[in-house]
Amino acid sequence: MKIKISKLCWQCLKEIGQTKENYEKLNDDFKGDTHVLLDINDDNLYEFTCDKGHISYTTFHEEKFEFLFDFGTLALIDGYTKEAVSTLASAFERFIEFYYST
Ligand SMILES: [Zn+2]
Repeated sequence: MKIKISKLCWQCLKEIGQTKENYEKLNDDFKGDTHVLLDINDDNLYEFTCDKGHISYTTFHEEKFEFLFDFGTLALIDGYTKEAVSTLASAFERFIEFYYST
């Protein structure tokens, strides 16, 4: 399961100056390819490298069961019933684990 995040990193923004014009220029430098696909993991720590070679780390505020619930709902809307059921079941299991761990 993958999630798409922006690969514009803070180091790039710091180097070019944090203005709207520079941000748009950086977007143009990336030729519109400003996102990276990352596998969702249990650690909630994601490492990615921007096109200029800077290594960045990010985390999400959402819990894994929230992602799974969103993916299950989207699968159901798109007509993938079997995938929706298994993903929503996984979301429920992760929620129960989260509930008992906190
Ligand atoms: Zn960068």
